[in-house]
Amino acid sequence: MSTILIIEDERQIARFIELELSHEGFEVTKEEDGRRGLETALSSDFDLILLDVMLPGLNGIEVLRRLRLQKSTPVILLTARDAVMDKVAGLDAGADDYVTKPFAIEELLARIRTALRHASSEEAATSRLECGPVVLDEDRHEVTVNGEEVTLTNHEFELLRTLLKNRNIVMDRSKLINAVCGYDYVGETNLIDVYVRYLRTKIDDRFGIRLIQTVRGVGYVIRDE
Ligand code: CA
Repeated sequence: MSTILIIEDERQIARFIELELSHEGFEVTKEEDGRRGLETALSSDFDLILLDVMLPGLNGIEVLRRLRLQKSTPVILLTARDAVMDKVAGLDAGADDYVTKPFAIEELLARIRTALRHASSEEAATSRLECGPVVLDEDRHEVTVNGEEVTLTNHEFELLRTLLKNRNIVMDRSKLINAVCGYDYVGETNLIDVYVRYLRTKIDDRFGIRLIQTVRGVGYVIRDE
């Protein structure tokens, strides 16, 4: 059964969507506030999120932006009619689709099915992340270099996964710390430097390759050769 999180402060709309989705066999969770919605979205794995843009606490675009630092859960934005800027900002922030209010429930259901289908085919395609001899298998939580297994801690694994997923994009330390330690982490971002050092010892030094590159004053990047 697919699980869907609805983050929507208008109770009547949220209740209406919940009833329809439950009727279609989805398991539904609701939040009315942006901040709580983000916490819920991060603390459990939903198959899809319906996210209103105008929310108390934290607006939908900001919720999405913060969610995307850690998770790729499909998100359909619920935007007000003609709010073109919301749509552009939403897609820029990583929304998969949007539906304009007021919408017909059949349209919403169709968008949900499409997003879920797309996500499951994408998931199958991206469970392996590769760069040269380095292969990270997300499903098996396993890293190999030239076919030899490398044992990593969870933090090291998450850091490597984030860099591989964002190949060729320079990631600054705060983005990396969010991905590795959670968005509510408070403390030194140079903790990332420590994890990078561990990864270099376990991968670069051992296999004589140069995987993670330092971008001085910014952060780190893994580039395709
Ligand atoms: Ca609203």
